[in-house]
Amino acid sequence: MSEPRPFIVAIDGPAGAGKSTVSKVLARRLGFSLVDTGAIYRCVALKARRAGIGFEDDVKLGELLERLNVSFQVVGEDNHVYLDGEDVSEEIRTPENSMAASRVSSRPVVRAGLLALQRRLALEASKGAILEGRDIGTVVFPDADAKYFLEANPEVRARRRYEELFQKGVERSLEDVLADQVKRDQDDASRAVAPLKPAEDAVRVDSSNLPLSEVVHRMEQEILEKMSRKQ
Ligand code: C5P
Repeated sequence: MSEPRPFIVAIDGPAGAGKSTVSKVLARRLGFSLVDTGAIYRCVALKARRAGIGFEDDVKLGELLERLNVSFQVVGEDNHVYLDGEDVSEEIRTPENSMAASRVSSRPVVRAGLLALQRRLALEASKGAILEGRDIGTVVFPDADAKYFLEANPEVRARRRYEELFQKGVERSLEDVLADQVKRDQDDASRAVAPLKPAEDAVRVDSSNLPLSEVVHRMEQEILEKMSRKQ
């Protein structure tokens, strides 16, 4: 008899909706692996920038994907990201690399090339996996066991991101953070392949006026209930 598939949780939504925080806490509490798919797109962007590859050069991007080696490791409270063995957790999150990630992610060659990697990382999990991204519930795992679409109004999301950058010592005005976010949301939602949109069967959670701890609590209860029904 084949091994049962790990329990798959898809968490999608726009930048700054709280996906990373919620995913991290949920993964820890449930003992699940965490696959931060945005970090994988960010690694592709960083590798392309370092190699001087244009964000529209599909041939070179395709070659780069064949050599891409991304892994994750939880260290204390943080999910560290490694590109070819180097810890790039900070470098992939600069404002320049965020915009670059959004650009490379619109290329069909990149999206197709990363599908197998995202699925493999999740299916390797022993108990379950949380995948956070933009198209997990629609494309990567349309048959996920639980699907969420996290939202919050643009000002709330920009402020969260601004505070996160500020704590890391990145000085950027709230207006600039909001402008980048609006551009990234527009690009992500309007691209031809796998645009940002809620799966029809996703539970939509608006965290504008809800503390993220409350969001985590509700999701955890639902997931535990679904897991017990699946057994
Ligand atoms: O989630 P994060 O902000 O780290 O994602 C960085 C970028 O990667 C997003 O703006 C989006 O363009 C892209 N992305 C994507 N599909 C995913 C995850 C991220 O297109 N599943």
